[in-house]
Amino acid sequence: MDINAEIITLGRELLIGKTVNTNASWIASQLTALGITVTRINVAGDTVGEISSTIAEALGRRPSILVTTGGLGPTYDDLTIDGLAAATRTPKEVNKEALRLVQAKYRAMKLEMTSSRYKLAMMPVGARPLVNEYGSAPGVFVEFGGTMIFSLPGVPREMMAMFTSQVLKVILQSVPSQTFRERFFIIEGMPESSLAPIINGWISSNRRVYLKSHPGGTESAPTITIHLSAAGSDAADLDDVLLRAEESFSRLVMKAGGKVRRQ
Ligand code: ATP
Ligand code: MG
Repeated sequence: MDINAEIITLGRELLIGKTVNTNASWIASQLTALGITVTRINVAGDTVGEISSTIAEALGRRPSILVTTGGLGPTYDDLTIDGLAAATRTPKEVNKEALRLVQAKYRAMKLEMTSSRYKLAMMPVGARPLVNEYGSAPGVFVEFGGTMIFSLPGVPREMMAMFTSQVLKVILQSVPSQTFRERFFIIEGMPESSLAPIINGWISSNRRVYLKSHPGGTESAPTITIHLSAAGSDAADLDDVLLRAEESFSRLVMKAGGKVRRQ
Protein backbone atom coordinates (compact mmCIF):
# COMPACT_ATOMS: atom_id res chain seq x y z
CA MET A 1 0.00 0.00 0.00
CA ASP A 2 1.50 3.30 -1.07
CA ILE A 3 1.07 6.04 1.53
CA ASN A 4 1.88 9.51 0.29
CA ALA A 5 2.49 12.83 1.96
CA GLU A 6 2.82 16.46 1.00
CA ILE A 7 4.70 19.15 2.91
CA ILE A 8 3.94 22.87 2.89
CA THR A 9 6.39 25.22 4.57
CA LEU A 10 4.97 28.67 5.18
CA GLY A 11 6.76 31.97 5.58
CA ARG A 12 7.91 34.86 3.48
CA GLU A 13 11.36 34.49 5.03
CA LEU A 14 11.69 31.26 3.01
CA LEU A 15 10.64 32.93 -0.25
CA ILE A 16 13.14 35.78 0.11
CA GLY A 17 15.97 33.35 0.84
CA LYS A 18 16.49 34.53 4.40
CA THR A 19 15.72 31.18 6.02
CA VAL A 20 17.02 27.90 4.63
CA ASN A 21 14.13 25.45 4.37
CA THR A 22 15.52 22.83 6.72
CA ASN A 23 12.03 22.00 8.01
CA ALA A 24 11.02 20.63 4.61
CA SER A 25 14.07 18.40 4.24
CA TRP A 26 13.91 17.19 7.83
CA ILE A 27 10.22 16.25 7.60
CA ALA A 28 10.77 14.66 4.18
CA SER A 29 13.54 12.45 5.57
CA GLN A 30 11.43 11.48 8.59
CA LEU A 31 8.44 10.49 6.45
CA THR A 32 10.65 8.70 3.92
CA ALA A 33 12.24 6.70 6.73
CA LEU A 34 8.75 5.40 7.54
CA GLY A 35 8.31 4.17 3.99
CA ILE A 36 5.94 7.04 3.15
CA THR A 37 6.34 8.62 -0.29
CA VAL A 38 6.64 12.39 -0.19
CA THR A 39 5.07 13.49 -3.46
CA ARG A 40 5.33 17.28 -3.17
CA ILE A 41 6.92 20.07 -1.14
CA ASN A 42 5.56 23.59 -1.48
CA VAL A 43 6.52 26.95 -0.01
CA ALA A 44 3.97 29.75 0.36
CA GLY A 45 4.00 33.28 1.74
CA ASP A 46 2.20 34.75 4.72
CA THR A 47 -1.19 35.78 3.37
CA VAL A 48 -4.41 33.90 4.09
CA GLY A 49 -5.05 33.68 0.34
CA GLU A 50 -1.69 32.08 -0.45
CA ILE A 51 -1.82 29.75 2.53
CA SER A 52 -5.39 28.59 1.93
CA SER A 53 -4.94 28.09 -1.82
CA THR A 54 -1.72 26.11 -1.30
CA ILE A 55 -3.40 23.91 1.31
CA ALA A 56 -6.57 23.53 -0.79
CA GLU A 57 -4.54 22.51 -3.86
CA ALA A 58 -2.68 19.91 -1.81
CA LEU A 59 -5.94 18.57 -0.35
CA GLY A 60 -7.35 18.35 -3.87
CA ARG A 61 -4.65 15.74 -4.65
CA ARG A 62 -5.90 13.75 -1.65
CA PRO A 63 -2.59 12.85 0.00
CA SER A 64 -2.79 10.55 3.03
CA ILE A 65 -0.77 13.06 5.04
CA LEU A 66 -0.24 16.82 4.80
CA VAL A 67 2.29 18.53 7.07
CA THR A 68 2.60 22.31 7.27
CA THR A 69 5.15 24.32 9.24
CA GLY A 70 5.23 27.95 10.30
CA GLY A 71 2.75 30.69 10.93
CA LEU A 72 1.27 29.48 14.20
CA GLY A 73 2.59 32.25 16.43
CA PRO A 74 0.97 35.43 17.74
CA THR A 75 2.32 37.95 15.19
CA TYR A 76 0.42 39.57 12.29
CA ASP A 77 2.00 37.24 9.73
CA ASP A 78 1.04 34.06 11.58
CA LEU A 79 -2.02 33.15 9.54
CA THR A 80 -1.83 29.39 9.13
CA ILE A 81 -4.97 28.73 11.19
CA ASP A 82 -6.98 31.17 9.05
CA GLY A 83 -5.59 29.58 5.87
CA LEU A 84 -6.32 26.08 7.14
CA ALA A 85 -9.87 27.02 8.20
CA ALA A 86 -10.52 28.58 4.78
CA ALA A 87 -9.04 25.63 2.85
CA THR A 88 -11.10 23.11 4.83
CA ARG A 89 -14.18 25.37 4.81
CA THR A 90 -14.38 24.99 8.59
CA PRO A 91 -15.08 27.83 11.04
CA LYS A 92 -12.55 28.66 13.76
CA GLU A 93 -13.29 28.49 17.45
CA VAL A 94 -11.38 28.72 20.72
CA ASN A 95 -10.28 25.11 21.19
CA LYS A 96 -10.80 24.27 24.87
CA GLU A 97 -7.88 21.88 25.12
CA ALA A 98 -5.60 24.32 23.28
CA LEU A 99 -6.72 27.12 25.60
CA ARG A 100 -5.79 25.00 28.63
CA LEU A 101 -2.33 24.36 27.13
CA VAL A 102 -1.77 28.04 26.30
CA GLN A 103 -3.03 29.25 29.69
CA ALA A 104 -0.76 26.79 31.50
CA LYS A 105 2.27 28.04 29.50
CA TYR A 106 1.64 31.69 30.34
CA ARG A 107 0.69 30.97 33.96
CA ALA A 108 4.07 29.25 34.37
CA MET A 109 5.72 32.38 32.94
CA LYS A 110 3.57 34.57 35.23
CA LEU A 111 2.07 36.36 32.21
CA GLU A 112 -1.52 37.49 31.68
CA MET A 113 -3.71 36.09 28.91
CA THR A 114 -4.00 38.76 26.21
CA SER A 115 -5.81 38.73 22.86
CA SER A 116 -2.54 37.75 21.08
CA ARG A 117 -2.25 34.82 23.46
CA TYR A 118 -5.91 33.79 23.04
CA LYS A 119 -5.19 33.71 19.30
CA LEU A 120 -2.91 30.71 19.89
CA ALA A 121 -5.90 28.67 21.07
CA MET A 122 -8.00 29.36 17.95
CA MET A 123 -8.36 26.31 15.73
CA PRO A 124 -10.73 24.98 13.09
CA VAL A 125 -13.75 23.22 14.65
CA GLY A 126 -12.95 19.53 15.17
CA ALA A 127 -9.15 20.03 15.38
CA ARG A 128 -6.98 18.48 18.05
CA PRO A 129 -4.12 20.54 19.54
CA LEU A 130 -0.58 19.15 19.62
CA VAL A 131 1.52 20.03 22.67
CA ASN A 132 4.40 22.42 22.05
CA GLU A 133 7.14 21.40 24.47
CA TYR A 134 9.49 24.29 23.65
CA GLY A 135 7.17 27.11 22.64
CA SER A 136 3.74 28.61 23.25
CA ALA A 137 1.75 27.92 20.08
CA PRO A 138 0.13 24.46 20.04
CA GLY A 139 0.21 22.54 16.77
CA VAL A 140 -2.98 21.39 15.04
CA PHE A 141 -4.14 17.96 13.94
CA VAL A 142 -7.26 17.80 11.81
CA GLU A 143 -8.63 15.26 9.34
CA PHE A 144 -10.19 16.38 6.07
CA GLY A 145 -11.50 14.21 3.24
CA GLY A 146 -9.20 11.30 4.09
CA THR A 147 -6.10 13.46 4.66
CA MET A 148 -4.45 13.75 8.07
CA ILE A 149 -3.31 17.37 8.35
CA PHE A 150 -0.64 18.37 10.85
CA SER A 151 0.17 22.07 11.27
CA LEU A 152 3.42 22.51 13.16
CA PRO A 153 5.38 25.58 14.33
CA GLY A 154 8.11 27.10 12.16
CA VAL A 155 10.86 27.11 14.79
CA PRO A 156 12.79 23.92 13.97
CA ARG A 157 13.31 22.82 17.57
CA GLU A 158 9.60 23.16 18.37
CA MET A 159 8.59 21.50 15.11
CA MET A 160 10.96 18.54 15.50
CA ALA A 161 9.90 17.84 19.10
CA MET A 162 6.22 17.97 18.13
CA PHE A 163 6.79 15.71 15.14
CA THR A 164 8.77 13.10 17.06
CA SER A 165 6.63 13.00 20.19
CA GLN A 166 3.14 13.32 18.68
CA VAL A 167 2.86 13.33 14.89
CA LEU A 168 4.77 10.07 14.52
CA LYS A 169 2.40 8.35 16.96
CA VAL A 170 -0.70 9.42 15.06
CA ILE A 171 0.83 8.41 11.73
CA LEU A 172 1.99 5.02 12.98
CA GLN A 173 -1.46 4.28 14.40
CA SER A 174 -3.16 4.74 11.07
CA VAL A 175 -0.51 3.84 8.52
CA PRO A 176 0.75 0.27 8.10
CA SER A 177 4.33 0.09 9.27
CA GLN A 178 6.85 0.32 6.44
CA THR A 179 10.64 0.45 6.40
CA PHE A 180 13.01 2.45 4.30
CA ARG A 181 16.50 1.12 3.49
CA GLU A 182 19.34 2.63 1.47
CA ARG A 183 22.85 1.89 0.12
CA PHE A 184 25.55 4.02 -1.46
CA PHE A 185 28.52 3.24 -3.69
CA ILE A 186 30.86 5.27 -5.86
CA ILE A 187 31.68 5.03 -9.55
CA GLU A 188 34.98 6.39 -10.82
CA GLY A 189 36.37 7.07 -14.25
CA MET A 190 33.05 7.51 -16.00
CA PRO A 191 31.22 10.76 -16.78
CA GLU A 192 27.51 10.90 -15.93
CA SER A 193 26.68 11.14 -19.64
CA SER A 194 28.19 7.67 -20.20
CA LEU A 195 26.40 6.36 -17.14
CA ALA A 196 22.99 7.73 -18.21
CA PRO A 197 22.13 4.98 -20.74
CA ILE A 198 23.28 2.30 -18.27
CA ILE A 199 21.00 3.78 -15.61
CA ASN A 200 18.08 3.99 -18.06
CA GLY A 201 18.41 0.33 -18.99
CA TRP A 202 18.86 -0.78 -15.40
CA ILE A 203 15.89 1.07 -13.88
CA SER A 204 13.50 -0.33 -16.46
CA SER A 205 14.03 -3.80 -14.98
CA ASN A 206 14.45 -2.76 -11.31
CA ARG A 207 11.17 -1.04 -10.48
CA ARG A 208 11.30 -1.61 -6.73
CA VAL A 209 14.54 0.32 -6.27
CA TYR A 210 14.96 4.08 -6.56
CA LEU A 211 18.37 4.89 -8.07
CA LYS A 212 19.75 8.42 -7.95
CA SER A 213 23.17 9.46 -9.24
CA HIS A 214 24.95 12.34 -7.49
CA PRO A 215 27.83 13.66 -9.60
CA GLY A 216 31.02 14.85 -7.90
CA GLY A 217 34.74 15.12 -8.57
CA THR A 218 35.88 16.99 -11.66
CA GLU A 219 35.30 16.77 -15.42
CA SER A 220 38.59 14.90 -15.89
CA ALA A 221 38.25 12.73 -12.77
CA PRO A 222 34.52 12.22 -12.22
CA THR A 223 33.22 10.39 -9.18
CA ILE A 224 29.53 9.61 -9.05
CA THR A 225 27.79 8.52 -5.90
CA ILE A 226 24.98 6.10 -6.54
CA HIS A 227 22.22 6.11 -3.96
CA LEU A 228 19.88 3.13 -3.95
CA SER A 229 16.78 3.07 -1.78
CA ALA A 230 13.59 1.09 -1.38
CA ALA A 231 10.63 0.93 0.97
CA GLY A 232 8.59 -2.08 2.05
CA SER A 233 7.43 -4.05 5.05
CA ASP A 234 10.38 -6.45 5.40
CA ALA A 235 13.76 -4.89 6.22
CA ALA A 236 15.80 -8.06 5.55
CA ASP A 237 14.12 -8.48 2.17
CA LEU A 238 14.83 -4.83 1.31
CA ASP A 239 18.50 -5.20 2.29
CA ASP A 240 18.73 -8.23 0.04
CA VAL A 241 17.03 -6.41 -2.85
CA LEU A 242 19.43 -3.45 -2.49
CA LEU A 243 22.53 -5.66 -2.28
CA ARG A 244 21.51 -7.49 -5.45
CA ALA A 245 20.71 -4.13 -7.07
CA GLU A 246 24.20 -2.85 -6.29
CA GLU A 247 25.77 -6.03 -7.68
CA SER A 248 23.80 -6.01 -10.93
CA PHE A 249 24.37 -2.30 -11.51
CA SER A 250 28.09 -2.60 -10.70
CA ARG A 251 28.49 -5.42 -13.24
CA LEU A 252 27.08 -3.19 -16.00
CA VAL A 253 29.37 -0.31 -14.99
CA MET A 254 32.51 -2.50 -14.96
CA LYS A 255 31.57 -4.02 -18.31
CA ALA A 256 31.49 -0.46 -19.69
CA GLY A 257 34.95 0.29 -18.26
CA GLY A 258 34.02 2.10 -15.04
CA LYS A 259 35.42 1.41 -11.58
CA VAL A 260 33.17 0.72 -8.59
CA ARG A 261 34.19 1.64 -5.05
CA ARG A 262 32.16 0.00 -2.30
CA GLN A 263 31.19 2.09 0.74
P1 ATP B 1 6.49 31.58 16.39
O1 ATP B 1 5.56 31.16 17.46
O2 ATP B 1 7.90 31.65 16.85
O3 ATP B 1 6.07 32.81 15.63
P2 ATP B 1 5.68 30.17 14.09
O4 ATP B 1 5.04 28.82 14.08
O5 ATP B 1 4.79 31.32 13.85
O6 ATP B 1 6.47 30.33 15.41
P3 ATP B 1 7.30 31.30 12.10
O7 ATP B 1 7.07 32.63 12.69
O8 ATP B 1 6.73 31.01 10.76
O9 ATP B 1 6.80 30.15 13.06
O10 ATP B 1 8.86 30.97 12.09
C1 ATP B 1 9.63 31.14 13.24
C2 ATP B 1 11.09 30.94 12.91
O11 ATP B 1 11.31 29.59 12.56
C3 ATP B 1 11.59 31.75 11.71
O12 ATP B 1 12.15 32.94 12.05
C4 ATP B 1 12.65 30.85 11.09
O13 ATP B 1 13.91 31.13 11.65
C5 ATP B 1 12.26 29.47 11.52
N1 ATP B 1 11.65 28.76 10.40
C6 ATP B 1 10.40 28.95 9.90
N2 ATP B 1 10.17 28.14 8.86
C7 ATP B 1 11.29 27.39 8.69
C8 ATP B 1 11.67 26.37 7.78
N3 ATP B 1 10.82 25.93 6.85
N4 ATP B 1 12.90 25.84 7.89
C9 ATP B 1 13.74 26.27 8.85
N5 ATP B 1 13.46 27.23 9.75
C10 ATP B 1 12.24 27.80 9.68
MG1 MG C 1 5.80 33.47 13.78
